Amino acid sequence: QHGTDVLTLDNVESVYGESVLALQGVSLTVPRGSIVALLGANGAGKSTTLKAISNLLGVSRGRVIRGDISWAGKSILGLDPARVVRQGIVQVLEGRHCFAHLTVEENLASGGFLRRPGRRELRRDADRIYDWFPRLKQKRHTRAGLLSGGEQQMVAIGRALMAKPILMLLDEPSMGLAPMIVEEIFDIIQQLNRDEGVTFLLAEQNANLVLHYADHGFVLENGRVVTSGAAETLRQSQDFMAYYFGDG
Ligand code: ATP
Repeated sequence: QHGTDVLTLDNVESVYGESVLALQGVSLTVPRGSIVALLGANGAGKSTTLKAISNLLGVSRGRVIRGDISWAGKSILGLDPARVVRQGIVQVLEGRHCFAHLTVEENLASGGFLRRPGRRELRRDADRIYDWFPRLKQKRHTRAGLLSGGEQQMVAIGRALMAKPILMLLDEPSMGLAPMIVEEIFDIIQQLNRDEGVTFLLAEQNANLVLHYADHGFVLENGRVVTSGAAETLRQSQDFMAYYFGDG
């Protein structure tokens, strides 16, 4: 058995192309069963950190040049992205990326394919997703491209859940969405964490929002962790909140 620290990044450095140093030594841990927030302004390195974990940096000519990423005590650095998914780590990329021409149901089905489920199992798993996202049930035969942004985010999360993740990496789940639907989505994330034990690493610019739901937060600046702590402590830190929200 492994310890409580499920995901560990140890001094991870990464580059894009030959020269752009995006991560300059990121260390963090995501304990199993927790919700961890990855905070920081535009360009701080949140997306790069999540992509490094899923080994998706190669798509943009990026790579990890130093450090290690381990999961349940074993290094996953350089593992094929599909194998990372098979290890239970599933990512919802920034901007949602639903298959616009496929229905909600087809989008969900696509998320389970690595497990090669039978038709009946697929149906049962999709029904579980509809329990979490009742809105999606009503629109199961609607093409995803016709849904609202919030509903598309739900499809993207639901599709990721079809892979039965242990750890979900969500990149800016609130981006561009109305506050009401953001709250709905974060409430579901919290329920998934409490009732199903899904662990979350959430990259968010909206610190005030995500710290309301997270157990712990790491703040990135220029590819480095500059602050970290219990979510409650960060929220109560004058300096931290002033930095993020000005004096108001
Ligand atoms: P955002 O919210 O804008 O995605 P972020 O905190 O996720 O911000 P990253 O996208 O990880 O930040 O970017 C970290 C650094 O890497 C930035 O300096 C950015 O300009 C650079 N970068 C990101 N993607 C690429 C790329 N494909 N090629 C070159 N540089 C990149």
